[in-house]
This record gives sequence, C-alpha cells and structure tokens, in this order.
Amino acid sequence: AKELGRNNLQVFTEEMAAKAHEKLKQQEELRQALARQEFFLQFQPQMNLATGRVFAAEALLRWRHPERGTVSPAAFIPLAEETGLIVPIGDWVLRAACRQARAWQDEGLPPLIISVNVSARQFRERNWAAHVAAILTETGLDPFRLELELTESLIMQDVPGAIATMHELQAIGVHLAIDDFGTGYSSLSALKRFPVRRLKIDRSFVADIPTDLDDNAITAAIISLARNLGLRVIAEGVENQAQVEFLRQSGCDEIQGYFFSRPLSAPDFEALMLQPRFS
Ligand code: C2E
Ligand code: CA
Ligand code: CA
Ligand code: CA
Repeated sequence: AKELGRNNLQVFTEEMAAKAHEKLKQQEELRQALARQEFFLQFQPQMNLATGRVFAAEALLRWRHPERGTVSPAAFIPLAEETGLIVPIGDWVLRAACRQARAWQDEGLPPLIISVNVSARQFRERNWAAHVAAILTETGLDPFRLELELTESLIMQDVPGAIATMHELQAIGVHLAIDDFGTGYSSLSALKRFPVRRLKIDRSFVADIPTDLDDNAITAAIISLARNLGLRVIAEGVENQAQVEFLRQSGCDEIQGYFFSRPLSAPDFEALMLQPRFS
C-alpha cells in the first residue's frame, strides 16, 4: 500500500507538472497571438421582433490557432483574464469592432450598432472611459453606435466604482447593456441605478422555453422588469420558432441566436445586411 501511495504521488506530481507546462505554453501562445494577428471577429446579428430588421451586431472573438484551428473564446478567455492578457486583447477587439462598424457605415450599410463584450479587468483600468473615447475618435465611429456589454458579476465586484465608470461612458455617448442577465446577483434595487439601455436575458433561461414553466416565469419576469424600468430587452440563444413566439407574446423587443443567424464573418454579415429585406 505504501509503495502504491508513492507511485500515485509520483504520477500526481508528473501530471501537475505537465499541466503547469501546458498552461505556460498556452499563455505564451496567447501572448504571441496578438502580434501574429491570429485573432479575428465574427458578428452575430440582433433582430428587432416588431420590424424584423437587424439593428445591431455582437462582435465575438475567435482565435485562428496555427495548429488547433479556430478556437472558441470559452477556451482561452479564462486564461486571458487570469494573466491580464485580456486587457490588450480586449483593446484589440474594441478597436477592430469600431473600425469594422465605421467601414460598414462608409460602405452604405443600413445603420448599425456594434456591441462589444467587456471583461472586468478591462473595465477597471484607470481612465477606461477616456480610453474608449480615444478609440472612437481614432476609428471615426459615432459613440452612439457603440454598445458595451457588461456582466452583472463585473458590476457587482464594485458597485459604486462600476456606476461611476458607467456614467463616464454614458457621458461620452456610449450605450450599455447588461449581459447574461439573471445569472448574477445584481439586486433589483441596484439595477435602477445602473445607467444601462438594455438587458440581455441569459441563454440558460431561454434554452427551455416554452416547455420549462420555471424558465417561462423567469423570462417573462425579466421582460416585464425591463419594460417597467424603461429598458430594452433582448433574448440571447434563441434557437427555434416556439421560443420566438413565447418571447414575442411576453413583450420581448429583440432576439439574437441561431434561429435567426449564427455568428458570421464580416463579409457574410455584410451580405446579409445588403439583402433588401434588411435595408
Ligand atoms: P456571450 O457574451 O454570452 O456570447 C454569446 C455566446 O452565445 C456566443 O458564444 C455565441 O456564439 C453563442 N450563441 C449565440 N447564439 C446561440 C444560440 O442560439 N445557441 C447557442 N447554444 N449559443 C449561441 P461564443 O462566441 O463562443 O462566446 C462565448 C463567450 O465568450 C461570450 O458569451 C463572452 O462571454 C465571451 N466573449 C466572446 N468574445 C469576447 C470578447 O471579445 N471579449 C470578452 N471579454 N469576452 C468575449
Ligand atoms: Ca455578450
Ligand atoms: Ca450573453
Ligand atoms: Ca450567456
């Protein structure tokens, strides 16, 4: 038994060493990915249920890895957060998204809002709002064309600090949305103090409507909460017609999800927008 224990320990430490090594390697690859221009964006349309028009696109980060092919953000954002690399990466995303939105404007696409995900590390950078303003100036995008998606957990880490930064962003003309709404712990009393324009109902609630009665109740409650607070509300992860009908009947303003469109490359998004029914 003693012998076995020692072997197990040895295997264990070797495994740990291998894991640590793998992590270091990934960290280094992630660091180099920016310089090697391996990141790119996809754009998922957001549709207004009343008009059927695409009014916005969410920019979603992708990594074209030299060996592993396209890597999803879920696989590398946590490491990027942990190492702080999310700050320069997020900066790249914001700049690239604004530049793309401005290019579409110049090409005569219908007016669009570009929505960009923000991580806590980025949001807490000193003078971040001024930095966002500088990127808007640099790329020539009108501030009201940019919407930043903040998660509840980001806001709840430091509510007064977050509200102050949110007001600074609002002052430069940028709009804000709360992403993954319902999954965090933002108190309803705090919500009314957040200068946000839109709530995004988390995909986990949308997935099983209209068959899961609890999810129906939660989704309908979020929609009516948003409406009563004068906020717009969008459901994410909408995959089928039954969900659309439930959301429509519950008074949801907008949808995003595979039902309407997967995230698209920039040229594919552009082609979609140039179809007569969206312009
Ligand atoms: P998120 O902000 O909740 O983004 C929505 C995710 O849902 C995207 O996954 C999108 O592809 C996926 N999705 C959209 N429609 C559907 C649907 O109908 N069904 C299902 N099952 N999924 C759908 P993606 O692109 O893999 O991104 C995952 C997460 O990574 C995002 O979740 C966001 O938290 C994060 N992320 C993506 N891009 C960025 C970024 O530029 N910066 C930061 N900080 N985070 C990012
Ligand atoms: Ca998002
Ligand atoms: Ca989300
Ligand atoms: Ca989500």
